[in-house]
Amino acid sequence: EQVNISQIVRDVIRSLSTAYQREIKFYHETEQDITISADRSKMHQALYILVDNACKYSEDTVIVRMQDIQDQLAIDVIDKGEGLSEAEQQHIFDRFYRVDKARSRKAGGTGLGLAICHGIVQLHGGKVHIESQMNQGSTFTITLPK
Ligand code: ATP
Repeated sequence: EQVNISQIVRDVIRSLSTAYQREIKFYHETEQDITISADRSKMHQALYILVDNACKYSEDTVIVRMQDIQDQLAIDVIDKGEGLSEAEQQHIFDRFYRVDKARSRKAGGTGLGLAICHGIVQLHGGKVHIESQMNQGSTFTITLPK
């Protein structure tokens, strides 16, 4: 199925900015909307998980950026929240892994979100990558073949 991934990102942003009453900026750094071959609802779910976490584990504006990098599509989800240590980053995509902090316990959840996101992106031939610093924030990047 050919899907407009730019539109999926806009839909995810619209519903989560309403739910969290949060500013979520979208920098669409390509001239036109991008269409890829993908499962629409799975792709929506993968993006929803990342943007939902960014809202859940931070308090400021969340940024989503979409770029063309050679023949790849890169989607960054950037938050200025609590961040993750190197050790935590190692386990972040494992099923049921949750960082043992009062904050994440309070936020609720099962620790399945990122494992599901990772699985969906892999199914589409892509990758999920994390860059994070404690108390500075996190950037989760999905790269997908176009
Ligand atoms: P759910 O399964 O409902 O999404 P969850 O948020 O606990 O629950 P994951 O999405 O898999 O599960 O995230 C795993 C853990 O990673 C979280 O408990 C949280 O501690 C940490 N985490 C995820 N995203 C972020 C983020 N953007 N900033 C800081 N910590 C994060």
